[in-house]
Amino acid sequence: MEKLSTQVVIAGGGPAGMVCGYLLARAGVDVIVLEKHKDFLRDFRGDTIHPSTLELMAELGLLDAFLARPHDEVREITAEIGKDRFRVADFTRLPTRCRFMVFVPQWEFLDFLAGEARKLPTFHLFMEAEVTHLVARGRRIAGVRVRATEGEGDITANLVIGADGRHSTVRSKAGLKVLDIGAPFDVLWLRLPLEAGDPSEPVARAIAGNFFIMLNRRDYWQCAMVIPKGGFAALKAEGIGGFRARLRNCAGFARDRADSIASFDEVSLLTVRIDRLRRWSRPGLLCIGDAAHAMSPVGGVGINLAIQDAVATANILAPILRRGRASARELRRVQRRREFPTKVTQWFQVQVQNRVLSPTMKTTMTPTAPMALRLLNRWRWLRQWPARFVGIGVQPEHVRQEIFKRGDSAPS
Ligand SMILES: Cc1cc2nc3c(=O)[nH]c(=O)nc-3n(C[C@H](O)[C@H](O)[C@H](O)COP(=O)(O)OP(=O)(O)OC[C@H]3O[C@@H](n4cnc5c(N)ncnc54)[C@H](O)[C@@H]3O)c2cc1C
Repeated sequence: MEKLSTQVVIAGGGPAGMVCGYLLARAGVDVIVLEKHKDFLRDFRGDTIHPSTLELMAELGLLDAFLARPHDEVREITAEIGKDRFRVADFTRLPTRCRFMVFVPQWEFLDFLAGEARKLPTFHLFMEAEVTHLVARGRRIAGVRVRATEGEGDITANLVIGADGRHSTVRSKAGLKVLDIGAPFDVLWLRLPLEAGDPSEPVARAIAGNFFIMLNRRDYWQCAMVIPKGGFAALKAEGIGGFRARLRNCAGFARDRADSIASFDEVSLLTVRIDRLRRWSRPGLLCIGDAAHAMSPVGGVGINLAIQDAVATANILAPILRRGRASARELRRVQRRREFPTKVTQWFQVQVQNRVLSPTMKTTMTPTAPMALRLLNRWRWLRQWPARFVGIGVQPEHVRQEIFKRGDSAPS
């Protein structure tokens, strides 16, 4: 790889990196996005597109094209405790254009964005390009070292954005300090067969020591089994027979499909983390999305936060980057804007994990439904609040139209 130079280089082509790259390019900033994988096809990723992101796409003129692709719309979320079902979230009362959550494989969303972004002359996406080091000039980060199929090379830029997820290379190479909040559980992901007559909406189930979530992916069920932190080794020691028995116990209507899991090769471990950076930036560098704050899967809000960070970054920095460099103070404005929603969301996730998940996993009895769940099930208008938290989040961002209309390319 030759020496390249650009205005902004983004490490990571996940939701944060792709949305940020698209928006900056649309504002006329020259952007290179580097993604270490050769495609976006990775299993067991967050597959939810939230009403706030749909609103954003409408603001950018992309909504109709996105919704023309195959997707599922979910308007209500229910939870099962033992044999009882409770309605917990109702998206139909949200104050947004799209009063539903879209379930679509994450690679579909990223492919769509990449397609739209490639229409912009200032957007460049390199796949199979992994950021391995940062390039510094004095105290300022001035670029990245990249390992690509063509070889290694440096890309210099006015700004490096670390959007490379929870195991971020950028944040560790930059020496940014991480506040580890901790999570007492991990998640196992697996697939179960889908059969005619199965429900179409997601199912969340709490039953005697187990939490189990099922997402209908049209061809199969994507299932999440919540286990105590570090508990996967003990499950493996019980053998696949023991695991299938546990699965039968929590898979409800799909219990007779547990035998479809042939071995532990079909079970993926997600080590759950909740953490955040104390400082999201240093001169020449900014972290956003999971790289700035790894979220627990509770509430399925990680993608929403990552995308909202990307919008705030582009809103604040695009006009500055079009002219040149952003100062350290200007970079800190992104953290000031996004830290409050991050802290509130993580606080909520910690409450759920400590007050609901941990006690349920410790008991061998089927838990009784908490009062909050009963009230939500009884009063429909109350159910808009969990829907707001998940679907819109705290302090939603909107694209500043005056910035993004000025890009080289007209809105599609
Ligand atoms: C199993 C699982 C299920 C989840 N379910 C949900 C859900 O239902 N709803 C929800 O909202 N959230 C969910 N989340 C969380 C959500 O996926 C993340 O919060 C969100 O994807 C964060 O986006 P991001 O762009 O910051 O990081 P990521 O999505 O992690 O993207 C980072 C990208 O950077 C790339 N990368 C990493 N290192 C480098 C490097 N050195 N150089 C170049 N590229 C690099 C990676 O390949 C990846 O494509 C889930 C997470 C997991 C792991």
